[in-house]
Amino acid sequence: MSTVLPLPEPVMRRRERDPRAQRHEANRLAKRLRHQVGRAIADFGMIEDGDRVMVCLSGGKDSYTMLDVLLQLQKKAPVSFSLTAVNLDQKQPGFPEHVLSEYLRSLGVDFHIIEQDTYSVVSRVVPEGKTMCSLCSRLRRGALYTYAAEHGYTKIALGHHRDDMVATFFLNMFFHAKLSGMPPKLLSDDGRHVVIRPLAYVREDDIAAYAQAKAFPIIPCNLCGSQENLQRKQVQKMMCGWERDFPGRIETIARALGDIRPSQLADPSLFDFLSLGGAGRDAPADARAWLADSGPADDADDGA
Ligand code: SF4
Repeated sequence: MSTVLPLPEPVMRRRERDPRAQRHEANRLAKRLRHQVGRAIADFGMIEDGDRVMVCLSGGKDSYTMLDVLLQLQKKAPVSFSLTAVNLDQKQPGFPEHVLSEYLRSLGVDFHIIEQDTYSVVSRVVPEGKTMCSLCSRLRRGALYTYAAEHGYTKIALGHHRDDMVATFFLNMFFHAKLSGMPPKLLSDDGRHVVIRPLAYVREDDIAAYAQAKAFPIIPCNLCGSQENLQRKQVQKMMCGWERDFPGRIETIARALGDIRPSQLADPSLFDFLSLGGAGRDAPADARAWLADSGPADDADDGA
């Protein structure tokens, strides 16, 4: 579970006070979500004519919102595609099996529930007191991808949103020393699946408000009792503080993720710094040639 970024005070007060303002806000919000999801689908070519989209539904606010908005867009889309909601019942103790199926039946949506006891595996393998989310997510992804391959789904839709993408970017930077994140569309490692994230442009607090307005029957993810990854929590706390002190900063960062300038960074595999400004006569000397007469590397003062 993540920390939802705070809404500006005046917006919260207006929502709480006036039912008409609440309705107005809800309509504007629904429209904004359709617009943002439609734009993300178009910008990244997420859905094409004839696609069979498997919508992964966990029972959390994000995936309910994704399904709801995709169903609305499907009615007026310029292409024809099918949607199937798929949930993985991981056999967590206390998982209310009937909730999702009743909800999906009431919508008349095509759906399937995969039953696989990943909970027992995770609780057996992960030492007590350690967070189980990483292994749990890997097993969940494996089960869902296998199901998609076996049943011919052409796209797998996941409910990650803008704030997840920004948080992942900082996690990778702070804890793995790399600039990479959670792309809106990607090919799975084995090349068999195209994964899409239709909520890529959507703020988490908008999703939380939408889920509340629509009264989705939310199933908590932490029935297993696991605690969320500490590093992710730290990053979310940092983002919350920024948004509180500098409203709009997270949106600015999210926009920056779509405006990369390799020549202004420092990765020679993305930009040909070696040839830059050279007369092109000789191949440039490599580091060994430059350092031939220097002492051992640990004597060097590189300012690090
Ligand atoms: S909170 Fe529990 S169910 Fe959710 S990802 Fe973590 S281990 Fe899995």
